[in-house]
Amino acid sequence: MALEGDGIPLLSAGFDDDDVHQLAAAKLQVFSQRYTRNRRLVVGALLHCGPSTIAEILNHDHALAQSSTYRSLVVLEEAGVVHRIVTTDDHARFELTEEITGHHHHHLVCRGCGAITDVSLPSDVERQLDQALAEAARRHRFTTDHHRVDLVGLCENCVDR
Ligand SMILES: [Zn+2]
Ligand SMILES: [Zn+2]
Ligand SMILES: [Zn+2]
Repeated sequence: MALEGDGIPLLSAGFDDDDVHQLAAAKLQVFSQRYTRNRRLVVGALLHCGPSTIAEILNHDHALAQSSTYRSLVVLEEAGVVHRIVTTDDHARFELTEEITGHHHHHLVCRGCGAITDVSLPSDVERQLDQALAEAARRHRFTTDHHRVDLVGLCENCVDR
């Protein structure tokens, strides 16, 4: 895995684009769904744009129509290819799941404008976080698959307002 000087994995440390498309096709197959042109275009847009609203996906690829994009996102979400990020506004934001990208990360969620920024932690911090969370979960006899920790606050544009 490629590492920056301070040990933070680069965004590019995950799978490459071909891997992502192959994994997406395989996940859809489990649900007897085909990797149609539209679904492929949506995945391609998310690969390029990161966390996006439907409007941003449509803006990125003008070959996509709103209704088919919405339907594609529903199927891709069911198949575990796409993850819907919870925000504080009405605009749903979507991104590829960590299983698909191979890139574990967290989010900064702006409660002002809804913007989402991907952030990574050094791997030793991730390990400590995992241990602490697993310990808390064990007290409730809860078996953890993975953690999801997002920060909610104000981005630099909204904090100045
Ligand atoms: Zn903001
Ligand atoms: Zn993300
Ligand atoms: Zn983490």
